[in-house]
Amino acid sequence: MTSQDDQEPSLDFDALARKYADEREKRRRGDGNAQYHSLNEEFASFDQDPNATPSFDRTPVEWDKDVVVIGGGYGGLLTAVHLRSRGVNDIVTIEKGADFGGTWYWNRYPGIRCDVESYIYMPLLEDTGYIPSEKYAKGAEIYEQCRLIAKKFALYDDTLFQTLVERLVWREEVQRWAVTTNRGDKINARFVVSATGNYSNPKLPGIPGIENFEGPSFHTSRWDYAFTGGDADGNLTGLTGKKIGVIGTGSTGIQCVPLVAEFAEQLFLFQRTPASIDVRGNRPTDVDWFASQPPGWQRKRMMNFTALTSGTAQEEDMVNDSMTNLFRESTGDTRGRFGSLDSGEHEKAEIARMEKVRQRIDSIVEDKETAEALKPYFHYFCKRPGFSDDYLQVFNRPNVTLVDTGGKGVEKVTATGLVVDGREYKLDCIIYATGFDFMTNYTRESGLSIRGRDGALLEEHWKDGAKTLFGVQTHGFPNFFLLTLVQSGVSFNYLHTADAQSAYIADLISYCTEKKFGSVEPTEGAVEEWVNLCLKLSEPRIKFLENCTPSYLNNEGKPSREFVLNSPYGGGPIPYYEALEKMSRERFAINLDFADRNASR
Ligand code: NDP
Repeated sequence: MTSQDDQEPSLDFDALARKYADEREKRRRGDGNAQYHSLNEEFASFDQDPNATPSFDRTPVEWDKDVVVIGGGYGGLLTAVHLRSRGVNDIVTIEKGADFGGTWYWNRYPGIRCDVESYIYMPLLEDTGYIPSEKYAKGAEIYEQCRLIAKKFALYDDTLFQTLVERLVWREEVQRWAVTTNRGDKINARFVVSATGNYSNPKLPGIPGIENFEGPSFHTSRWDYAFTGGDADGNLTGLTGKKIGVIGTGSTGIQCVPLVAEFAEQLFLFQRTPASIDVRGNRPTDVDWFASQPPGWQRKRMMNFTALTSGTAQEEDMVNDSMTNLFRESTGDTRGRFGSLDSGEHEKAEIARMEKVRQRIDSIVEDKETAEALKPYFHYFCKRPGFSDDYLQVFNRPNVTLVDTGGKGVEKVTATGLVVDGREYKLDCIIYATGFDFMTNYTRESGLSIRGRDGALLEEHWKDGAKTLFGVQTHGFPNFFLLTLVQSGVSFNYLHTADAQSAYIADLISYCTEKKFGSVEPTEGAVEEWVNLCLKLSEPRIKFLENCTPSYLNNEGKPSREFVLNSPYGGGPIPYYEALEKMSRERFAINLDFADRNASR
């Protein structure tokens, strides 16, 4: 008997199923994803980069390059590192921010940490000799590690910062992409790799009146330390004597709220759906343990975590945290495939785990009504699970009020505050912890206009959803590669997928270079086969998501065909990584069309 089995008899699964369905219905809304606003047009001021020099200027460049990498987050960094290690050196990275880091450049809110273990999340630890200071590293430390990688692999000199790629046009006659930017740059590139990130487009909630608020307001990914004072470790002295409203209780909200609560006179936390908050259990790195790891340990540990959390049996649980324990405890043999309701046994295990999460709330939050309002009633994997050992405690503070909106969300924003159930909460500042676009539409999220062979627009080509081979290439767009979760094998540790994809892309580019091929693209048949496989394998996952409370993981309750096509590959990350490795190992013998270099070049 496992500990989960011990708990099951006390649970009324039918009653819980009805409760889950009731809670889901409260949150369904007709506009789905369209409820949110991007940070453009009337909300463009929310997108200002607080960490860049607004007056930055430079002379436009006109270059010929082998590879343009779009994005300087971990995905772009890994691509550049893998390319260099294969002898492809003529690279330029183009990055919107003023430094490397991607997610970790933009998100600097107080309390920010990675919720995946640093020893598997932070890449290239063996190559850089870097030792993360804690099991779950702070955002600032991860950002610094991104910069360290860029320095170590000499990427700074080959990067254009504060620059947005606007257009890519394939020129068949020279087998190059014409790349143009918002700073007037013109770069002819043999290959283009788009590593624009997965959580890179912040969104504001669909609440009327956002523009009417007269005090400071900002999105967590553009934290305004000029107003709050302090830094990601706290000391937010600018909040002294102020009434602060935070909207959003996802992974970001639960990380920033404890520090805001410490300094604000009053914190009102506006909740639409409670998050599931599991035990964190952070601790400093045992440096002796770290030093004793044998060569190749990081890859082995990454593989162990990804396998364990995606349904492949493992003898050992190396990471051993709340996430892996769920899989290990509830199936005993670690073969559970969660988030798909593929067996009643696993469904019960998820429900039992959520019951533990609810019991933990009762054991920490003193006020019974608040504790009840904080309880999540949905399947564990309907939303990204949260982990914290200081969030729930916040509700025992006299200066913190949970404003539960009963699933409806905040009604409106006024000049002076937020309205819920007709009552206005007067505020000095509103903080939007309302998340990001996620796999909604690649061209819209990346902001890129991409014209492939014969002038075809990628936006048009993918108007009904993505069509790719392995998520990394598409037919008709030669020498164009993506790092994405779309139609890709996804691990809870995104860095594992980014590493696998960037290594594959670097292998293929270096192969083309070695063989002097002018272009490579997947065959139409290979794309069709992959898309059909993705559609077929998505069925159990989609069935699961249809029963979930709305969130970005199920297109806000509307898992349309386009959403399905923009979703991950349902075969799981391990078979996916193996498929990529096999392609490299077998020297790209199938699925791809190579063209010789044009005679003129
Ligand atoms: P989320 O999308 O997870 O959360 C957004 C929050 O805003 C939700 O609580 C949502 O409520 C709420 N919201 C939206 N509209 C309204 C409204 N009209 N009224 C009231 N509330 C509203 O965004 P996060 O930034 O928290 O997280 C996004 C992702 O980023 C995470 O899931 C995670 O993958 C990643 N992340 C990772 C971290 C890490 O440690 N690795 C740390 C932080 C983020 P509702 O739930 O009802 O939609």
